[in-house]
Amino acid sequence: MKAIIIGAGIGGMSAAAALKQQGIECEIFEAVKEMKPVGAAISVWSNGVKCMNHLGMGSIMDNLGGPMHRMAYNEGISGATMTQFSLAPLVAEVGERPCPVSRADLQAQMIDWWGREKVHFGKRLEAVTQTDTNVTATFTDGSTVTGDFMIAADGAHSIAREYVLGHKVERRYAGYVNWNGLVEIDEAIAPADQWTMFVADGKRVSVMPIADNRFYFFFDVPLPLGLPQDRSTVKHDLTGYFQDWAQPVQTLIDAITPETTNRIEIHDVEPFKPLVKGRVALLGDAGHSTTPDIGQGGCAALEDAVVLGQCFAEEDSIELALAEYNDARVDRVKDLVLKARARCDVTHGYHPETTQAWYEELRSETGEGIMKGLSKTILGGPLG
Ligand code: FAD
Repeated sequence: MKAIIIGAGIGGMSAAAALKQQGIECEIFEAVKEMKPVGAAISVWSNGVKCMNHLGMGSIMDNLGGPMHRMAYNEGISGATMTQFSLAPLVAEVGERPCPVSRADLQAQMIDWWGREKVHFGKRLEAVTQTDTNVTATFTDGSTVTGDFMIAADGAHSIAREYVLGHKVERRYAGYVNWNGLVEIDEAIAPADQWTMFVADGKRVSVMPIADNRFYFFFDVPLPLGLPQDRSTVKHDLTGYFQDWAQPVQTLIDAITPETTNRIEIHDVEPFKPLVKGRVALLGDAGHSTTPDIGQGGCAALEDAVVLGQCFAEEDSIELALAEYNDARVDRVKDLVLKARARCDVTHGYHPETTQAWYEELRSETGEGIMKGLSKTILGGPLG
């Protein structure tokens, strides 16, 4: 049995690992010649780490995971602590730690784990056709490949999604711009073992420790879509958006390198179904593109892969295995996308009274409420 996998992101590489565990041959086709991820880092929450362990790639988490042992919210303007707590009770409850990781390193190590020379780079999917017995991918260079089935992990702008649904899906602008990158850890910004967020006026600044003494930082600012993007003005822009903010935020802005700072207009896609058409299945962002507000997009791709493997372990028929995958994932991924969207609205001040009420809540938060929410999301994954 041979699977064609489209995309060598977190989704495609984890799908390949899951299918390999079931003895299924995989050929991976990636559009770009060189991987250049759009985000500097991601937090792989405990559900994602469990999936990486299950897929045999746990050592990558050990290599790359940062020491995120505590969490804190600070008031953005004054810098005063609103809440600060240990994540140890969460880790104890869910049975695994979260791992914030450099995204480029994660993708590179997943590809190396598989065998870089075995991935076909520079192959952009253009069209999909299928018969009762096989699937053919046509690439923009005119070449084709045929396999028994296709896992399309071609990301948020998926071509295969249009094929599976029979219509184009428009992405929805979530109303804010996210700047992100990496800086050396500086305790004048925040403690080295803590995920620290500064919040005020519907804006957010976050630093999270990843391996090699680096902070993954991001700034969120609610803004209209389509403003000019210019790396050379990043510091000036951020200084303007955060001019009254506390000293650690100013220190962070001073520390960033404009050339390696990403600016992303955040989008998601309205949850849809099905995720599968016959022998073609969508996986990862192709099947459920979410805002990053609960840090679950990549984790959901890893969950998809684990479930895909489980379905092939239970079913010999490709169509039945993929139908089972569809049924097992549709509600979970819808839930994650909508949860992130709801969180996004509160965090970014779209209903100011709700956001003010959240700021008030944070001031009396012991950590229990936040960890309860995190644990519910984590334990809703396929590995509990
Ligand atoms: P992608 O990573 O987009 O990979 C798709 C791959 O397919 C790419 O390599 C692309 O080049 C390739 N491709 C595209 N089109 C074609 C084609 N036609 N033919 C062949 N190949 C193609 N998730 C978390 O879990 N935690 C976080 O903290 C987190 N933070 C985030 C922060 C930001 C700012 C953003 C934008 C996202 C964040 N995410 C997070 C989400 C996470 O990055 C995505 O969910 C994850 O990368 C999805 O992986 P994927 O493989 O499905 O898609």
